[in-house]
This record gives sequence, structure tokens and C-alpha cells, in this order.
Amino acid sequence: MLPCTIKSATNHISNCPNRQWIEESLQKAHVPGAAIVVLNATDVVYELAVGYQSLSPQQPMNVNKSIFPLASIAKTFIATAVMQLVEEELVDLDTDVNVAYPAGLLRMSAGTLSIYLRMFLNNGLPVLRPQSIAAMRTIVGGGVIPSYDPQWSNKSMELPPSQGFGLSWYWETMKDGRRYIGHSVNMNFIPPNTKLIAEALGDISQLPRDMQMAVTNKLHESFQPVPIPNHGDWLRYHEEKGQTLKAFEQTTSKAVPHSTFNTIYIQPVGSFNHPRAAPLNVIIQFARIFFAGCEVELLPTIDFSKDMKYRENHGIKQYRTDDFYNYLSQTRYFRDTSRELLCVAVTMTDIYPDESWNFVYGEARVKDGLGVYSFARLDPLFSESSQILLSVPLTKEERIVMLRHCIKILLHELGHLFGLNHCIYFICLMNGANNQIEMDRQTLYLCPVCLRKLYSTLYFDVRHMYENFVYLCEIYGLEEERLWYRKRLNCI
Ligand SMILES: [Zn+2]
Ligand SMILES: [Zn+2]
Repeated sequence: MLPCTIKSATNHISNCPNRQWIEESLQKAHVPGAAIVVLNATDVVYELAVGYQSLSPQQPMNVNKSIFPLASIAKTFIATAVMQLVEEELVDLDTDVNVAYPAGLLRMSAGTLSIYLRMFLNNGLPVLRPQSIAAMRTIVGGGVIPSYDPQWSNKSMELPPSQGFGLSWYWETMKDGRRYIGHSVNMNFIPPNTKLIAEALGDISQLPRDMQMAVTNKLHESFQPVPIPNHGDWLRYHEEKGQTLKAFEQTTSKAVPHSTFNTIYIQPVGSFNHPRAAPLNVIIQFARIFFAGCEVELLPTIDFSKDMKYRENHGIKQYRTDDFYNYLSQTRYFRDTSRELLCVAVTMTDIYPDESWNFVYGEARVKDGLGVYSFARLDPLFSESSQILLSVPLTKEERIVMLRHCIKILLHELGHLFGLNHCIYFICLMNGANNQIEMDRQTLYLCPVCLRKLYSTLYFDVRHMYENFVYLCEIYGLEEERLWYRKRLNCI
């Protein structure tokens, strides 16, 4: 397929070359057929099919039915759309999207534009296949796919209709209002084999014996492979190549404790003083043993200030993430700057990054060492009225489920700030998650590859860390996790 832009003084069809000239030209170039479509800003002004699409079996070219691979032409469309967003200052081309939005959970609520920027603009993934072109020729309607509504995210808690297709886009012809849809195909994730996992682990010969055992011994008994992603799963929509130890070591945007800079400050924002609030004192104990060698310090809770922007989304009050960052940046000098490695805000209130998002669980600015995470949606009764949320205590079961999720979110997100990308090697704390099932599946431990990466920054004593986990899991009723760590200790 060859797109080209032609400037024409007039709109008359008579300007187009005639059929005979086109046929002769194709013959000269030994091209068996062509479908030519000329468009102006609003409509198709000329279309012509000549020759054959296939010589064996012989299929004449047909403007409406012939399908061509778009190949890299998709980039042209996407790049144009992206540059329009750049003009509107909605995205920034010069920010590494993995740095700006490093997280699966961070942006799992709505579209995933940032990830796609990288996919489309940098590595030219061939997202469009012949099936997509067929879909692009499909008129949308009959209630199957609703008309594109740029305001959907503000009006509806439902996922946008595009979700099923990965990335998709709509257009509507101005003349007759017919609507079309174009979409990418889903990612084709192939779980990494043993060889790739070994490559990701890198050379382990210099590791202490405990670590060598932790990342090699009886892996199949303790670590599950990543399943082929289902519809709606993270890996169906996100191309994750996997981050090897080498890639991790080369990452410059990551927290590395050094000299006195080893404190992770946790700044609670808004009330944690109600019966369903996340137990911060417990959660940070897990962070302390996970990021061994770092101090984890809980700062005094602050209230939302009047300046912090919020909105009501279906009756749910949501604060905008920008203002958390502003607060954390502005108050840096009130904290001990000689000790600060990271500072993250946590809140029981729902949050959103900008108008195009329904909500997020969290967001991070790796370069600034800042993050903001909300535990609001981890409450099993989140959708209930705020009256219930503020008064009815958690049942024992709910308390454990919520604690588990809160710890996962904090460790996963802090893991991103420490430079860990999403994991594809095993079921792991660092897997991307697009839905509840995937969130539940994330583990409260790191797979061998991620453990090895974090070790290369923190140099912890893995046996000691695992023993601490057994101890804490026992105290707080995380039985599944206690058993896992106990079992693993027997392998190292
Ligand atoms: Zn993530
Ligand atoms: Zn992992």
C-alpha cells in the first residue's frame, strides 16, 4: 500500500489519470493490479480497480473487497494522530513512556496510549493485518459498536468499546455519517522458554550460594509459568519483551540507595482513620523487609488541601494525581533530603491522572523518585456508599484480602521505582495486570529473574528476607504466602 498526498487546485475527477494510462503504467512496472482511491479531507472522490489481486487463483482487483497488508503504513496514521496529541500538549514525545508511566497497574483503567506510543513509533510493530483492513471497511452500526464518543471516559464507568480490539480508532464520513472502525490485532505473547529465562538471569556464578539456589533450585515447584493471555489480559494488549538483568543494570532511571540516601518516605494523604482504611503500619513492615537495607518511614498524615483538584465521577470523589506530585515536590525540603531516596503518597481516595482516564490505582515519576497510589478500589465494598465505607468494619476475610492487595500494590509500584519492569518470565509480583483475575494472580514474591535484578541493587540476604516474610505472614494471617516462603526456604 502506498499513501501519497497530492495538492490539487481543483477537485475535479477529470484531473485523475485515465484507466488506460494506469493499466499501461502497471504493465510496464510488472505490477499485476492496483486499487486506487483518492480522498479529500472529507470523502472519497475517486476510486478505481485495475488488474488482479491474485493471479493464481485469478482474482480481479476490487476496491471494496481487495485486502492489502498495511505493513509499516500504520505508522503514518498513528504518527499523525500522536503528533496531533503532541500539539495539544497531551503527550510528550521526549519522555520515555516507560519512565513516565512505567506501570501496568498504573494505567490499567482505560486506554493505554503511552504504551502504544512506544510500540508504534519506535519499533514499528506491524499492528495492522489484513483482518484489520477488512474491519476498517466495515461500517459500524446497528448498535453493535456505538458511535465514537470522545467524552466516554467522563460519562461512563464502562470500558470503551475499543477494548476488545486492543487499540482501535473510529472515523465518520462527514457526507453521510457512516462510521468505520479500524483496530490492531491482539499481541501474540509466547511464554519465554528455559533458555530465555537463563539469559534473563545472566551470570550467577558470582552470587552468594543462597542467592544461586534461590534463583535456580526447584524452580518448577515454586514458580508457575505465565499462561497464554486470555481476552482482556494485560499481555493481549501490551507488548512486553521482558527485562533481562543486563537491561535492568543498564537502566539509569531507577532508585539506587547510596551513602545516606536510603529512605522511602510514605506520605498518607486524607483520612486513614476509619474502619476500612488500609493498615499502613502493617503494610510498611512488608516494604521494609522487601527493600532490605532501605528505611521505610511513615510521614504524618496530611489532609487534602483546598488547592488540590478533584472531580465527581459517578458519585465517586476523585483527586487528580498532579497535585500529589506538586505537594511531594514542594515539601521535599521539609523532609530529610540527605536521606530521601523515594517519596510516595498513599490515599484511601480514588485518583485519576487526567480527564481521559476513569481512574488509576497509581502512578509514578521514576525520574523524580515520586509516586502516588490509591488503595480505595482494593476494598471489596468500594462500589458501596461512602457511609458504609466509613462505618462498617472489614470482616476478617476482607481484611486479609485487602491487606494482601495493598502490600502487592505498594511493593509492585515501588518495584517500578527501583527500575523493575513488568515481568514475563514467571507468575510474579511484577506481572502487568489488566483485570481483577490478573491482580489476584500476582504473587507476593518475586520470580527468580526479578529477585536477581533487585539483588543487584540491594544485595540483601535472601534467606534472612524470606525468614522475615514467614514471620510477618504468620502474624498477619497471609497463610498462602507464609507456606510459599517456608517451602522456598527449604530450597535455598
Ligand atoms: Zn506495574
Ligand atoms: Zn518476575
